[in-house]
Amino acid sequence: MSEYISKVAVFCGARGGVAPVYIHAAAALGLEVARRGLTLVYGGGRTGLMGAVADAALSAGGHVIGVMPEFLVEREVAHQGLTEMVVVPSMHARKALMAERADAFVALPGGLGTLEEFFETLTWTQLDLQRKAHGLLNTEGYFDQLLRFLQRGYQDEMIGSAPETYITVRDEAAVLLDVLQSLSPTGGLLTDRT
Ligand code: AMP
Repeated sequence: MSEYISKVAVFCGARGGVAPVYIHAAAALGLEVARRGLTLVYGGGRTGLMGAVADAALSAGGHVIGVMPEFLVEREVAHQGLTEMVVVPSMHARKALMAERADAFVALPGGLGTLEEFFETLTWTQLDLQRKAHGLLNTEGYFDQLLRFLQRGYQDEMIGSAPETYITVRDEAAVLLDVLQSLSPTGGLLTDRT
């Protein structure tokens, strides 16, 4: 069990997607986070995968912190049953606080917001502004094309490392968390040691 991961930030869709498998995957992750006694930090919404991950963690007795900008509280339907809801002034404040509160980041299937949040935190790690683990829950191969693109960036020497050295990719929540919890800081980027 990792000594340094106690809070996991999850980025995921405010929508549910076309297939129930996405909601099921989000619920599985929420459940696993709570079962391991980890705190879930997420965007604070009640809809889509965001709602599913939070509801599952709460139903398993987990500690769930939502971080939501004021202007989104109504628009994105803030979750009313969280352990803690932090309302912040802006999107930038949201990401800064989530990063401050989390030891590891996991992205689940989602849209532009999910990608933006995940990539920003990846760049912070790459720039040595933080030392944290990054995981992708690759449900139904949702991120396959994105991972191919990152591989292309590495091959063409636009990105300094192969994707597997800075993102842990798994398609099962429990397996993904097992790997993330087995990681330790190794300089700027974290290496998958399994
Ligand atoms: P999406 O993946 O587009 O469904 O969005 C998931 C979450 O990301 C939602 O709560 C969005 O409000 C949030 N989001 C979108 N853009 C940003 C951003 N630039 N900074 C922080 N959160 C964002």
